[in-house]
Amino acid sequence: MNKLTRHFIDNAWVASRATRCLDVIDPYRETRIAEVTVGDPADVDDAVAAARRALTGWRELSGKRRGAFIDAIAEELEARRTSLVELSSRNNGKPRAEADQDLADAIACYRYYAGQARALDARQGETVDTGETGLVSRRYQDPVGVAGLITPWNFPLVSSAWKLAPALAAGCTVVFKPSEVTPLPEQALAEIALEIELPPGVFNLVHGDGGNVGEALTAHPGVDKLSFTGSNAVGEAVMAAAARGTRNVSLELGGKSPILVTEDADPALAAELVLAGFAYNAGQMCSATSRLLVHASLADDLHARLDAAIAELVAGDPLDDATTLGPLVNAAQRERVEKYLATAEAEGLVPTARAPIALPEHGHFVAPRVYRDVPVTSRLWREEIFGPVLCTRTVQDDDEAVTLANDSIFGLAATVVAGDPARADALAGRLTAGNVWCNTHQVAPPGLGWGGMKGSGIGRELGRSGLDAYLETRYVTRSSAD
Ligand code: NAD
Repeated sequence: MNKLTRHFIDNAWVASRATRCLDVIDPYRETRIAEVTVGDPADVDDAVAAARRALTGWRELSGKRRGAFIDAIAEELEARRTSLVELSSRNNGKPRAEADQDLADAIACYRYYAGQARALDARQGETVDTGETGLVSRRYQDPVGVAGLITPWNFPLVSSAWKLAPALAAGCTVVFKPSEVTPLPEQALAEIALEIELPPGVFNLVHGDGGNVGEALTAHPGVDKLSFTGSNAVGEAVMAAAARGTRNVSLELGGKSPILVTEDADPALAAELVLAGFAYNAGQMCSATSRLLVHASLADDLHARLDAAIAELVAGDPLDDATTLGPLVNAAQRERVEKYLATAEAEGLVPTARAPIALPEHGHFVAPRVYRDVPVTSRLWREEIFGPVLCTRTVQDDDEAVTLANDSIFGLAATVVAGDPARADALAGRLTAGNVWCNTHQVAPPGLGWGGMKGSGIGRELGRSGLDAYLETRYVTRSSAD
């Protein structure tokens, strides 16, 4: 068994001061595959001190030099791709093909921000046309400082890439706390930092849970910027912590996203997108489109197709290439989803399929379920379930679909499936969501942005805005006579 008793601080493997360990579980075999030592606040102190020491040297490197390091991270991830895919799949339970997609996304993200680091050099000192005569103004962008990064377990190596790559590109140094549920793939980042000879202190990793390491990191006065992805409850605590010292904060939180299907939609495409929208990664996606709003005339056909597609899912060993549905990440997550299934039963909601699909005898599996005509007052309709559960309603027209779609405390994502592209565009324009996909799968290319409106968060990751999240802007104005 792999025992992860070490943090990575100042380019050295450091024994934790604490002795408490957490089990790292293979959610398919339900076996312990590693132990992770829960860090101590003093470990966080050491990591923050190392990041602060490294800050001046790192920020003074050119973007070109920083970009070369970030490209090297991408290369090392690529070189370890097969083993990391397997590790991620075992630790998280996602099918191998999905873990491979994660790796591809992470690598693309590092490559994109390597380019952004280089582009930053070219933008420094750009003249700003203010319309004022007699004055010349220039714009510079400086790193915010030491960044504290905290990620969840559902997309290992991806959520961290979305933070680490832009932070390093901007010139920030980093203290990273990965999820205690999936520490194994993230540990590779420390190995890579050593391999590529990243300057000491630029990247530090402290293992542990929220109570010890998470809170110590968010409360630490030596951290200038907090970037958090996770649940709303914790996100609010992180924001409260950031308020002390008026520190910069980015939040990527939950969702309860809609998928709208109009009467002219291609029903086969609609079924495909609806299934992927709520069952990919066993539904453990912040952007899961778990509320279907389908035009009444297409509803029976779409439901029949969906039930047939679900019946064809293969639940099994995530490392078996035939598997299309993995287990949920752990027992706690399965129990959380099962509570929602019990709530559905108590509310008189009945799944559309006669019987759930067959599941292996072990593993934290939940069979996908579709509930039709769910009242908008139901907890299932309103709350993020984070499992393969779809709630559906029929609508009479686009206005009703938009009203229901936007009636949520969240605003992360949405999908529109419509025959007429102009109609899809018009619908997309009326949705309060950070990302809307029209007639296509959920994609998040690094050059775009990612983030939510309303309760889904603050700020955008990816794209230029993802870099700006780690930068401060400085304007310098002087007399043009100088
Ligand atoms: P979580 O909020 O329980 O934990 C997320 C991270 O925060 C973990 O690393 C955890 O150890 C840490 N943490 C817990 N308590 C903390 C505290 N008091 N202070 C500081 N850190 C603390 O979330 P989870 O269960 O790991 O992930 C699921 C949630 O993440 C879902 O709600 C999902 O919607 C959200 N999510 C959002 C996005 C997005 O981009 N919007 C992406 C992925 C996941």
